[in-house]
Amino acid sequence: MTDQTKWVYDLNEGDASLKPLLGGKGANLAEMHRIGVPVPDAFTVTTQACVASMNNDGEWPEGLAEQIDAGLARLEERTGKNLGSAENPLLVSIRSGAVFSMPGMMDTILNLGISDDTVEAVAQLADNERFAWDCYRRFVQMYGEVVEGIAPNVFEDALTEMKESKGVALDTDLTAADLKELTQQFKSLANEALGGHWTTDPKEQLLRAVNAVFKSWLNPRAEVYRKSQGISRDLGTAVNVQEMVFGNRGETSATGVCFSRNPSTGAKELYGEFLTNAQGEDVVAGIRTPRPLEEMEAVLPEAFTELLETMERLEKHNKDMQDMEFTIEDRKLFMLQTRNGKRTAAAAVKTAVDMVDEGLITTEEALLRINPSDLDALLHPGIDPDFDGVAIVKGLPASPGAAVGALSFDAEDAAERGGRGEKIILVRYETTPDDIAGVMVSQGVLTAHGGMTSHAAVVARGMGITCVAGAPGIKIDVKAETVTINGKVYGTSDVLTLNGSTGEVFDGAAPLVPPAINEDFEKVGEWADAARRLGVRANAENFEDASKARELGAEGIGLARTEHMFMAPDRLPAVRKMILADNEEERAAALAEILPMQQKDFEAIFTAMKGLPVTVRLLDPPLHEFLPNLVEQSLLVQKLELTGADEADVERERALLGQVKKLHEQNPMLGTRGCRLAMLYPSIPEMQARAIIRAALAVLEREGETVGVEIMIPLVVIAKELQVQRAIVEKAVEEELAAAGKTLDYTVGTMIEIPRAALTADQIAEHADFFSFGTNDLTQTGIGISRDDAEAGFLGYYVDTEVMARNPFEGLDQDGVGQLVQIGVEKGRSTKTSLKTGICGEHGGDPASVEFFHNAGLDYVSCSPFRVPIARLAAARAALLNK
Ligand code: PEP
Ligand code: MG
Repeated sequence: MTDQTKWVYDLNEGDASLKPLLGGKGANLAEMHRIGVPVPDAFTVTTQACVASMNNDGEWPEGLAEQIDAGLARLEERTGKNLGSAENPLLVSIRSGAVFSMPGMMDTILNLGISDDTVEAVAQLADNERFAWDCYRRFVQMYGEVVEGIAPNVFEDALTEMKESKGVALDTDLTAADLKELTQQFKSLANEALGGHWTTDPKEQLLRAVNAVFKSWLNPRAEVYRKSQGISRDLGTAVNVQEMVFGNRGETSATGVCFSRNPSTGAKELYGEFLTNAQGEDVVAGIRTPRPLEEMEAVLPEAFTELLETMERLEKHNKDMQDMEFTIEDRKLFMLQTRNGKRTAAAAVKTAVDMVDEGLITTEEALLRINPSDLDALLHPGIDPDFDGVAIVKGLPASPGAAVGALSFDAEDAAERGGRGEKIILVRYETTPDDIAGVMVSQGVLTAHGGMTSHAAVVARGMGITCVAGAPGIKIDVKAETVTINGKVYGTSDVLTLNGSTGEVFDGAAPLVPPAINEDFEKVGEWADAARRLGVRANAENFEDASKARELGAEGIGLARTEHMFMAPDRLPAVRKMILADNEEERAAALAEILPMQQKDFEAIFTAMKGLPVTVRLLDPPLHEFLPNLVEQSLLVQKLELTGADEADVERERALLGQVKKLHEQNPMLGTRGCRLAMLYPSIPEMQARAIIRAALAVLEREGETVGVEIMIPLVVIAKELQVQRAIVEKAVEEELAAAGKTLDYTVGTMIEIPRAALTADQIAEHADFFSFGTNDLTQTGIGISRDDAEAGFLGYYVDTEVMARNPFEGLDQDGVGQLVQIGVEKGRSTKTSLKTGICGEHGGDPASVEFFHNAGLDYVSCSPFRVPIARLAAARAALLNK
């Protein structure tokens, strides 16, 4: 039990297990200190202090200010330095530290403690006047912006002016005298902006800085990021107050970021960037372009060797790829942070497999390291390798994959257009965390500045969004909404292609190819298959999709929708003849025309899936979907009448119009569809059953093997419907088998996709060999929201305002619709213990829903082919997490 009123922990009081209280950064600092890795001394204000003040309108809990004071006194004692002392001044950094890493989303203040009183001492102790003034001007700017909310351009403009007046290009070219002058300017600008209320007392500054970090937990970009990552707002952030070490004390000092493995590919190789004579934000903010870590060996060899050893040590200790920040002060290495590194899906898979091979983790741990949804990125297309286009510019390959889209120069515009479904490439000088909403909906991000570890790159990689960063020489005009690349001007209607794996940018839309799946991916799939209980099938209705699904590990087809075959242009005339038939004879003739076509379709699927089960669902949509639109047909008839067209033509179109009117329904989704149609026109299911059996026998004959035939009746709500339909199907099947002189195992089941079906599943199960939950329709009818209209209407608002946690067509509404699934399974099995149960709605490929289906005891999930690997991994994780 932790002390509920202990708000401050010294560095030596914590360890990795206190992450919920000390945040990721604080807990890891304490842990590094514990195992002897050099970290600057520090204390941490707990997440609970942030939560307590957040819950009390920003008012600090009792004792917090006093405990910070005491923590500071102990830090002063340990370091032998004092905040504000003119002899031996202590300078500290104040950094946020959430429980789950949120790179760059909250605020940081560096160099706190520098002031008119202490700057000379800092200069003397470091024997570097320029350094002292550099710290001071940085502090005024950072504190002014972050704590006091002064607009950044106030300082930026003064800095630019200063560089111009001195005739230099880089900050590092400014002399000590320049920086001193700049600091004075900054201070008067800050004081002016605050109406004379600029705080100069470092203790007061410290308390205000801690409070600013608390408040930054609630800033809009942090809110957006949290939402996208599912991080709860209630967690709060910790605040780390740490003795400053300086990477900007001349050329023997440096600062940088590094990963223990390459976070893009997962390869075990050197990966990082550094800058000499610089402070941390110079590297991550992309102000100066950092140097690759390899080059550090020549500049600071001892620190370089120590860094490599520390990286290895931290990775072994944490048993995961580490993302680290370090500073070298006068050749001495300090680690400022370590955390499990964000990585691309490819890197997640490779590191997991390599770490199992290295004996660092078990296969089960490896499965839990990979986020199933991230696999999506691996399954996305890349640029066709045969494409021989010449890149118009090449930047850094910051986040892999290929992205094609029209340009946007503003995150808000990107969010708006992307939200409407337009494919967007967000082009920015450098992205800031404020751009997050635009980044999220873009296909790709192109920036002119920033390195591989800049925030833009980290965030894009984490989200699986393609990113090319630091493209050299591109000129962006945000106002005019143009970018000039290689002399050519591109605007918002122009399309570019980004290759996030090479950094290349191409004019126009490059051809994309499906992704290649490598051995590591296959291995993870095999481990997942060994760990999971749930079966994984695919929804597919043609040879290509079925083959793809099989290649990706599907164990069968859970849903082949037959209506898509009816809609093919070469089928439509025959289908219309069937619908327009005046009597059973005419209908039978039309169906006889359709039967061989359906048989051909089924043969293709069965060939791809031979040896595995295939569920073929009989015709589901209302018949009018195969007919022309009512208004258009009325207009056509009118036009033919008015233009005196041939009477036979007019008559034909009029008849069609009559049928369209007859079949028109106000609520077709609740109308004559599914088995209701089959009840009215029994010759349709009969024809389909015959086509299925003929196809299965033909494939058996040709291939020596066929599929497990499962015939599925849609939209059943009354047991009697299934009883009648089953009899029709069985009769047709038996006749076919008898005529062919063959036997074949087959089963007949139903979809459970209307609440009444779930509630009366015990009755329905009397006639079913299997149930497949149609969670699309079950969501539509269970919640009472149209699957065709709700997402474009109120549902978006509901999700944005968190009235609903998720779009229920994407992630199953577990509380409501989930209950219907549970009831359906329980009642179905109460009648028939052997009843096979699956789900074939869109939720079959959603990891959270898959876990629910695992727990509900279903036998399998079925999803679109490209989601099969995600479902396999999600099912494995569900089994591991719910043992
Ligand atoms: C469903 O309703 O969940 C289902 C799979 O069927 P369809 O999407 O074809 O209506
Ligand atoms: Mg349905």
